Amino acid sequence: MTSPISTRMHGDVLIVTSNNPPVNALGHAVREGLVKAIGQADADAAVKAVVIICEGQTFFAGADITEFGKPMQLPMLPSVVDIIENCTKPVVAAIHGTAFGGGLEVALASHYRVAVPSAKLGVPEVKLGLLPGAGGTQRLPRVAGVPKALEMAATGNPIGAKEAFQIGLVDRLIEGELLPHAVAYAEEVREVRPLPKSSARDEKLEEARANPGLFDMFRKANARKFKGFDAPEYNIRAIEAAVAKPYVEGVLDERRLFMELMTGTQARAQQYFFFAERKAAKIENVPEGTQPRAIRRVGVIGAGTMGGGISMNFLSAGIPVTIVEMAQEALDRGTGVMRKNYEASAAKGRITADQVEGAMGLLKPSLSLEDLADCDLIIEAVFENMDVKKEIFTKLDKIAGPGAILASNTSYLNIDEIAAVTSRPQDVVGLHFFSPANVMKLLEVVRGAKTAPDVLVTAMKIAKKIRKVAVVAGVCHGFIGNRMLMPRQVEAMKLLLEGATPQQIDKVHVEFGMPMGPFQMSDLAGVDIGWHRDPTRIENIRDALAAEGRWGQKKGAGFYDYDEKRTPSPSPRVAEIIEEFRQKTGTPQHAIDDQEIIERTLYTMVNEGAKILEEGMAQRASDIDVVWVYGYGWPVYRGGPMFWADTEGLAKIVAGLEKNGFEVSKLLRDKAEKGEKLSKD
Ligand code: NAD
Repeated sequence: MTSPISTRMHGDVLIVTSNNPPVNALGHAVREGLVKAIGQADADAAVKAVVIICEGQTFFAGADITEFGKPMQLPMLPSVVDIIENCTKPVVAAIHGTAFGGGLEVALASHYRVAVPSAKLGVPEVKLGLLPGAGGTQRLPRVAGVPKALEMAATGNPIGAKEAFQIGLVDRLIEGELLPHAVAYAEEVREVRPLPKSSARDEKLEEARANPGLFDMFRKANARKFKGFDAPEYNIRAIEAAVAKPYVEGVLDERRLFMELMTGTQARAQQYFFFAERKAAKIENVPEGTQPRAIRRVGVIGAGTMGGGISMNFLSAGIPVTIVEMAQEALDRGTGVMRKNYEASAAKGRITADQVEGAMGLLKPSLSLEDLADCDLIIEAVFENMDVKKEIFTKLDKIAGPGAILASNTSYLNIDEIAAVTSRPQDVVGLHFFSPANVMKLLEVVRGAKTAPDVLVTAMKIAKKIRKVAVVAGVCHGFIGNRMLMPRQVEAMKLLLEGATPQQIDKVHVEFGMPMGPFQMSDLAGVDIGWHRDPTRIENIRDALAAEGRWGQKKGAGFYDYDEKRTPSPSPRVAEIIEEFRQKTGTPQHAIDDQEIIERTLYTMVNEGAKILEEGMAQRASDIDVVWVYGYGWPVYRGGPMFWADTEGLAKIVAGLEKNGFEVSKLLRDKAEKGEKLSKD
């Protein structure tokens, strides 16, 4: 096999080129090739300097993550970068595309770094639950300074080459062709001695030593963002070691911290999730080569909470949208909210004023469904009512052009029943966005019994275009996400009657890592959602709250009381209502501990997820995990409910479910008995 690393001389500069598509990942052959090339530079007196450059779209974009979890073949990256730094000739890293992770570590070990202005540099390891373990945590603060290194390593966010140049991480910005300029740079520096080694630099560490409060300030400022995650703290500690200890000792700390992360559950969960997200795009049972339909204009029906957000996704991606409402007032209100949202983003500097006008300029508001005749994809987002939806789809069938895709954003309703009122059920699909639809990354693509393969392929493609992560779901009540939410909500309400408080249940969920618990979620979404709106018919605690106008945050009262800043506090009135229902229903009370809450509200979700898998309503367990991480904020460091169940132990889950009298999914029981895992399908 030929090596992905080749060398050639240009004058007295040795050009070391990597050609390892698609992203020049630092797999075994690349590492071996780099060591050989540096050996060649050292051995050959004719070589006065070295340029390391990559072909294709990018500089080394990181480790080869397919090697994760397998025994690593030597040489390992830490020794490769040391060999580069110890080369007796100056080494220049010539960067384009992304120098990420191991790629940036190679660049940091090089004596000089030059980059094109569009290049990006970063250490995203933290996003996979790791730290840059090839000297990155030790060299980066020495070159970029401690504050920047902390930010880059602990958040994983990259910086652009221009910023990198300003802070000294890049020595020269190259306008024009990279290779000849990099070679010219190498010729300029070839006589400079001693060679500038990143590991030997100290001046930027000295600055940090003068400001010892720096680390705790950084921790405090990011406490919310890092909550629950191990890896950010480990990155911080490794950089602390860089400041506090000599390089050789700091590297040992880095190695130890890296190994602790690598062998922990969080890194496994985050790496699992990385692949889960990519797998979700694959649709089963679709003929290979199925081509998507062209989507030039999108129609949205309903300019309410969802319709507005849905439209914004397409407008932001440059796709024109026709939005239809029933009355001018609702239309104006809806489009007004969209403009306000865009303007708020502009005020925060996320987009420009021109982009606001550009997006809004692509919007055509209308009061007539007939105006949707030229749309290639029409998404209905009106009230959650089957009769209303049927009426709309009947009309759409007459209005929409041939081949137009007719989609519903319904949360629970049967897509097949909606499709049946049209003469083209093959063109009907569910596109279930999550609220706020312009923000949430998840899109459930609901596959009806008759949905055509090219409609599904189009849905997945358009999802990508509007930067959503799409997951295919089957037709069932609540699809994947909301269906699994149901047992959780039911049990949470029962627990209230049996003696728990809303705050106790919410606390267990928040400590688990969810952004909020079941009752906080109800208050945010609206306690009145799905309420029958008859204040005299009070059948449960929710009805009682809704009847009193306790509709949640929007009314300043729900399961909690809220002050004007929307800070929640436990509500004595809610405690009274719960007590009334306890007495009215004669529910026996018992002491409820955190474990019982976990078993009844989280194990039940796992059980429902297993039933969804068993029925084929999800294509694979990892899709369920994608739904929960991107749709409901399940902590990614726990992988998702299916992955988490495996770490908890399926036998323990089954026992917990049985103890509480739940009917256990056959699939879950079988897997538990065989010692198999749910998330490995
Ligand atoms: P909403 O009440 O905020 O908005 C619905 C809008 O549709 C209203 O503005 C109404 O005037 C308009 N409308 C009703 N009938 C119409 C018609 N015949 N022609 C044109 N416009 C019409 O409701 P929403 O929260 O945006 O929900 C819309 C759909 O999205 C529902 O099916 C809901 O289940 C689903 N959904 C909602 C959420 C959520 O969190 N709100 C999340 C996912 C999915």
